[in-house]
Amino acid sequence: MSDVVVAGSGAAGLSAAIAAAEAGARVTVLEATSLVGGTTALSSGAMWVPANHRHAGDDIRAGRRYLEALDLGDTSAAARDRFLDEAPRVTKWLEDVTGLDLSVVPLPDTHAELPGAAATPGRTLEPGRRTVPAPIIAMVRPTPAGRPPMTLAELLTGGVPAAELERRRVDGVLTGGRALITALLTAALDAGVEIRTSARATRLRTGGVMVGDELIPGRIVLATGGFERDPELSAAFLPLRPDGLIGAPGARGDGLRMAMAAGARLGSMADAWWCPTIKVPGVPGSDQPHHRILLAERARPGAVMVDQDGRRFTDESQNYCDVGRTLHAFDAGFCFPRNPSWLIFDAEHRARYPVGPLRPTDPNPPWLHHAATIGELAHVIDVPEKSLTATVQTFNEGAGRGADPAFGRGTRAFGRATGDPQAPHPTLRGLTEPPYFAVAVHAGLGGTKGGPRTDPDGRVQHVLDATVPGLYAAGNAAASPFGLAYPGMGATISLALTFGTLAGRAAATDR
Ligand SMILES: Cc1cc2nc3c(=O)[nH]c(=O)nc-3n(C[C@H](O)[C@H](O)[C@H](O)COP(=O)(O)OP(=O)(O)OC[C@H]3O[C@@H](n4cnc5c(N)ncnc54)[C@H](O)[C@@H]3O)c2cc1C
Repeated sequence: MSDVVVAGSGAAGLSAAIAAAEAGARVTVLEATSLVGGTTALSSGAMWVPANHRHAGDDIRAGRRYLEALDLGDTSAAARDRFLDEAPRVTKWLEDVTGLDLSVVPLPDTHAELPGAAATPGRTLEPGRRTVPAPIIAMVRPTPAGRPPMTLAELLTGGVPAAELERRRVDGVLTGGRALITALLTAALDAGVEIRTSARATRLRTGGVMVGDELIPGRIVLATGGFERDPELSAAFLPLRPDGLIGAPGARGDGLRMAMAAGARLGSMADAWWCPTIKVPGVPGSDQPHHRILLAERARPGAVMVDQDGRRFTDESQNYCDVGRTLHAFDAGFCFPRNPSWLIFDAEHRARYPVGPLRPTDPNPPWLHHAATIGELAHVIDVPEKSLTATVQTFNEGAGRGADPAFGRGTRAFGRATGDPQAPHPTLRGLTEPPYFAVAVHAGLGGTKGGPRTDPDGRVQHVLDATVPGLYAAGNAAASPFGLAYPGMGATISLALTFGTLAGRAAATDR
């Protein structure tokens, strides 16, 4: 017998469960898959929190000015304001309740030039390294092969030697999303929460939710993640069918279907946490094509992105969500000329930086195209030679002067911080060293952003009436209040934790 039933065991679900248990409820977490953690476990575990306790000198009003400056799309001022008030408290609570040691990631806000933005690091936090007992690790979703136990701070400041990474693997040292999820899971178990895996919630019933033929009674928190793994829901709501799904397999939209069946008001349905991805076939242990998010590779010197006509189209060093959105451009000739696009780089980039799972010392894999000249590379990847040659020439001329007149790469704090801090210019250098390389870049996403609209405490709003009694939602299962914005690295997990906590508390205490 539960008072609160949480469907989903990612950041939103586990934080909801802990908060509900703290408020005195008997809590059951249902997890559809055999492993705990969802997409959160695969993530870097970063969280974006204005005015957090690790960032002296910041304040909520600045955070509000910034989010107001990013107010495009289906935003919710009430939920945004609640987030700003509550997220700093939840972040401190997270440390207290889990023992996680959060530290600042050396990145400014994604649009640091806007009013209220943080132009220096402080708002993005990540879990510190954490040694976790093997039985807990075994319960949690593993990251795909090739994802090293390295913090974002380490990644951005030069990486970690291979021997040290191996030692961490052997010792059970976790970073990122796995550190976050194991910490939340441990705290949930300590608080007496029952965790049921391979338990897929499918239908709401009066006073509970069905798992197969079994009614699990209680108020329901939907924390089931996004709907991107459900082809029908994706086709119905998303603006294009993205190839590169990088999240966990459980994101099948069950929470959305249950909320729709209960008459929920929906929000942000056409949006997602977009990202550019590369397809890396043959990941050990998986029979699925595997997509990897493309992050610093785009920002580092000696690389550009071009469309199928061989033209650049954006400042490649910008954050993954906004660069990911640029891949959706539609041409009236009835095609998407930027999906796929190409990341083009030279031999020096190849020799210095990892690209997805590929380390500089690895041999060239089949998915990496290469040629002795840019013109030959154009033929290999089937883009117009004249256009690609002109694009690289123009980029090189500007980069030689430390400028990118076309797209302003190098002028924005976020792009500079994502590049190479040791290079003469963190993000601009011409592609001058043969051979040249190309990898296809696909429109992808880390999770959808749409779902039932909630009130500021996570209660699901009814399309006609005030709220749906006994139903709550948080994380990617709920509508994001941020509209089109990705204000800082970690904005999705901080929303999941904040509204997960609020929803769990409301579910436990509503009468
Ligand atoms: C590689 C990668 C890196 C990322 N890095 C970051 C980052 O550093 N910071 C950030 O903010 N965001 C990041 N993201 C995005 C972020 O991980 C997600 O947006 C966030 O974790 C979603 O949390 P959630 O709790 O809503 O969902 P999830 O963590 O996906 O959890 C949902 C859970 O619900 C389960 N479920 C689904 N249906 C049912 C059902 N019917 N019954 C029971 N259980 C069900 C799923 O199996 C899943 O376990 C990243 C994403 C990826 C893929």
